[in-house]
Order: sequence, then structure tokens, then C-alpha cells
Amino acid sequence: GGDKLYLGMDFGTSGARYAMIDKEGKIRAEGKREYPLYMNEETVDWIKSWRTTLFGLLEDIPVSLCPAVASVSIDGTSATTIIVDSKTGEHLCEPFLYNQSCPEALPIVKAIAPPNHTVCSGSSTLCKLVSWWSSSYTPNVSAVLLHQADWLLWLLHGKLGVSDYNNALKVGYDPECESYPPWLISQPYSSVLPVVQAPGTAIGSMTENIRTRFGFPKDCVICTGTTDSIAAFLAARANQPGKAVTSLGSTLAIKLLSTKRVEDARFGVYSHRLDDKWLVGGASNTGGAVLRQIFTDDELVKLSEQINPEEASPLDYYPLQDIGERFPVADPKMEPRLHPRPESDVEYLHGILESIARIEAKGYNLLKELGATPVDEVFTAGGGSKNEKWIKIRERVLGRPVRKALQTEAAYGAALLAMKGASL
Ligand code: ADP
Repeated sequence: GGDKLYLGMDFGTSGARYAMIDKEGKIRAEGKREYPLYMNEETVDWIKSWRTTLFGLLEDIPVSLCPAVASVSIDGTSATTIIVDSKTGEHLCEPFLYNQSCPEALPIVKAIAPPNHTVCSGSSTLCKLVSWWSSSYTPNVSAVLLHQADWLLWLLHGKLGVSDYNNALKVGYDPECESYPPWLISQPYSSVLPVVQAPGTAIGSMTENIRTRFGFPKDCVICTGTTDSIAAFLAARANQPGKAVTSLGSTLAIKLLSTKRVEDARFGVYSHRLDDKWLVGGASNTGGAVLRQIFTDDELVKLSEQINPEEASPLDYYPLQDIGERFPVADPKMEPRLHPRPESDVEYLHGILESIARIEAKGYNLLKELGATPVDEVFTAGGGSKNEKWIKIRERVLGRPVRKALQTEAAYGAALLAMKGASL
């Protein structure tokens, strides 16, 4: 058919995926690649690995679909940072990975940023920038900072120095004022900061070189991206205030769309901007990792079948893998609580699932107390979302409808951003 298609790519922690969707949101093609391991002396050559993966995914797309692609967007891991020459795009250092910490930069950042600001963490993008500036800056090259998604998108559109306000939050960008704050602008390294747009904004056309190599159309536009976890939220299409996504993987993470921005550093709660709304998030250390320590995935399925989800379990646990919790209870010394263990494994699992559901409910309550829009419907993603009994338990405990999200892949969320960029 002659309908347009939208391409999203996700560069996550373990590999990259693409999703091609039509305007109804139907997936027309999808695929994934692992990151190849290239070495650069002693260190991994991430630049080469990501570039190879990007072009590998473009090659994987069915050739017949490429002429219909109206737009492309990409998400990357948050706080993965690359500093490049602003004239040639040549990288000036090895990329800083999302979880890499720059403890030596933290006191410098804390001295300039407001207390408890998102940048006040050793792995923030700003700490990475300060670390690079202190050790490697030379005045004769003009540099620009890019996040992983910005850099990959640059390979496709060729305009250096463009980012989005989701990726730029951890470098200190203020998405509410739509500018970098004065305390950051006044630093000598502010010249390195990228220009920031809303996620899913058309930046420009795809370069002719790439367009002709893969057969994309002349009017194919490249759009700003977002972070991998926001892209995964977007995939669920929970796009009204009060809609939320609970991700039940190894840990439990909740994200709620709110009309009000809320932040509380004690609980690690902060908000990302999404157009005229805020995406409020909190992450607990409870979750599926504890289940996996006690039961195999097969046992989880068999035992769950025997649970009566209408009945409240009287067992009150706080399942944790290690000591310490942040959200919805800020207690770095909290001990895991998984006793008493009843004789019946069905009762035990019921108690654990019910207890995790109570922690989830407490999380949504806390966001409400902090001023966020109250939750009215929960979509669910991650390995725990396939457990129908748990969904019923959670509906009872939360007092809200809980549904499995239809789409949970970040690449699908990136494709929705591409669609947004093409329609503006
Ligand atoms: P992550 O990507 O965070 O490692 P996943 O989203 O892949 O995690 O989810 C894996 C988790 O899902 C495991 O920790 C496991 O305990 C949990 N899980 C798997 N099957 C079930 C099930 N039937 N019921 C509840 N939890 C499950």
C-alpha cells in the first residue's frame, strides 16, 4: 500500500532493536542485534560497536518497506555521553557509559547545582562533562556533548549538537523553563552543551548518502529521541494523566503521567517532561529478582495457578534482594522480610505477590501525596506482567484496573516519536 511507515530504534543496555509501524500503530517489521565486541587496546570500542549496530539494523529492514519510511527516531540509555568535535563529529574521548561514575567530578557539580538536583549523582551526564573538561579539554578544538541517542541520530541527519529534553535532564537542562539554568550557563563548559528540542521533533532530512544506500525516500525526516526507559513507557500508549505503567522485572518501577511535576530526592522521585505533561517515576528494590531466588519460572507458573486472587493474603513481607530501600520507603538499612514461611508454597507465593502489590500501591499513594495526578489505570510490563493471578491480586490491592500493556518494547515507543515528528 501507499501508507507511510515510521521507524523507531532502541539502543538499550544489552542490545539494539528496531520497530517499523504504520499510522495505526501496527508493527510491520521488527528485529534486533547484539552489540558486537570491538576492542580499542584495553577498552571496548563502543563508537564502532554502536555504529555497526545502527547500520546492521538498517540492513535488516525489509528493502521493500524502506521507500515508505516517513521518519526515524532513536532512544538510548540515559546518561550515556559522547563528546565530539563540533566541526567534524570526531569523538574527542571514549563514550561515558550510563552507569559509569565520575566521583572526582561530584564535589565540583555539587558546589554549583542546587541541593538534590538530578545532576548531583556521580553518574550524571554533568559529572561526565566536568570530568572530561577537567582532564581533556583543549581550547583549540570546539567540542559538543551528545547523548547516545543524539549521536546515533546525528549519523543519520548530519547536524551536530541537537538533543531532546529527556536525555538532557541529567546534564542539567530545565525542561520547564526550556533552557539551561543560570548556574550552568555561567560555567566555562556550557559552550559544549547541545541545543535541546522536545522529543519527537523533526531535526532535518536523512543524509543523501544513507538515504540512497538503503532506499529511504527523499522526504524521510530524522526526529529527536528520548531515553530507553521513557521510550518503553511511550510504547504502552498510556497517554492521559492518571495512566501509569508498572514495570515488574528484577525490580519494580512505576511511571505515572501527571499534570503536575513532582520531585523528592529522599525517595528518588523525579519527573520528566512529556509535552504538556509530566512523567513521574519511582523505583523500588523489590521485584522479580527475589521470586527467582526462591522459585523457578516453571514453579511460579504452576503455583500461581493455584492461588485464589480474590482472597487477601494475611502474610506481610517486604521482599528485597539486598539491604536497603528508597521508594516508597526511604530506608537504606531496611532488611528483607520474607518470614514466617508457611508450609504451603502456594500460600508463600501468594503472600509474596500480595506484599509486592502492597508496595506498588504504596508507591502510587506516595506520588499522589507528593502532588501528582492520582492513578486511575495501570498498564503493566516486564516478566511479572504475564502472571494473570498477580494482575488480579494487584487490581484488588490497588483498587484500579490493571492491564497488560499491548506494547512494551522501547523501539515501539521510539517509532511513535518518529510518527509524532512526521505529523508536526
Ligand atoms: P529484567 O529485564 O528486569 O531482568 P524481566 O522483565 O525479564 O526482568 O522479568 C524477569 C522477572 O520476571 C524475574 O525476576 C522473574 O522472577 C519474573 N517472573 C517470571 N515469570 C513470572 C511469573 N510467572 N510470575 C511472576 N513473576 C515472574
